[in-house]
Amino acid sequence: MAGYSVLRRYFPNKGVRKRVGSKQRLAAEKWRTPLVKSKPHIKVIGFDADDTLWLNEIHYRNSERQFVELMEPWLTKREAMKELFSSEMENLGLYGYGAKGFTLSMIDAAISISNGQVSSDVIRQLIDIGKALINVPLELLDNVTDVLTQLCSDYKLIVATKGDLLDQERKLQNSNLEGYFHHVEVMSDKNPDSYRKLVRHLDIQPEEFLMVGNSLKSDVIPVLEIGADAIHIPYHTTWEHERVADTSGIQPYITLDSFHHLLGVFYRPAN
Ligand SMILES: [Mg+2]
Repeated sequence: MAGYSVLRRYFPNKGVRKRVGSKQRLAAEKWRTPLVKSKPHIKVIGFDADDTLWLNEIHYRNSERQFVELMEPWLTKREAMKELFSSEMENLGLYGYGAKGFTLSMIDAAISISNGQVSSDVIRQLIDIGKALINVPLELLDNVTDVLTQLCSDYKLIVATKGDLLDQERKLQNSNLEGYFHHVEVMSDKNPDSYRKLVRHLDIQPEEFLMVGNSLKSDVIPVLEIGADAIHIPYHTTWEHERVADTSGIQPYITLDSFHHLLGVFYRPAN
């Protein structure tokens, strides 16, 4: 049960665009009573990791900038970006998500862009860009630790992330968040079938599962499709591959401006 003082810090003053209306926000300001779970039917909350719990995409953007600079003898920055993205998409089925696949895609793209003329020195620099991406210090997003501390006392929490297994395990270890989670699932992809499998593994029904994440494509749409619930917390930088052009027809879901608004969704006054 969350105390009033805790909740007051987290309840949104603005920015909750769906379902959680101004009435509830006003109510939160007046709460003086103990709080109870507002989603008691939810047995497990799943959290995406990259750009939900910690910074990620911004580091890839930085690596891409270094890549396009190295390709300047052959292509403009815009063209080199396009080639890199094509290479990533071509290789995704083979290498999966994550920094290692990204590194191989940079090398692959560089060889194509240069018609095989790229030097071993540049290839070495690309490998170093990939290593730097893997070794970049982990930075948690605002309020993540405080919110998880509160939620884990009332809800079972798990991580459901895609990406390279070793990379994601390393990041989780460096985050010091492992203790909050009952289970960590590194998925090769986030589609309805993989979420069905996850829910079966957790031994719960889909309607007892709620996913929180920054990607509509990976964390919201496939989750709603299996009959579970989802909360979208967009991050300002989104990888092209994760963009959803047409959002019409998506079932209702909650969108929050930031992680710290989650407590306002999961708790309500006792009376
Ligand atoms: Mg993410």
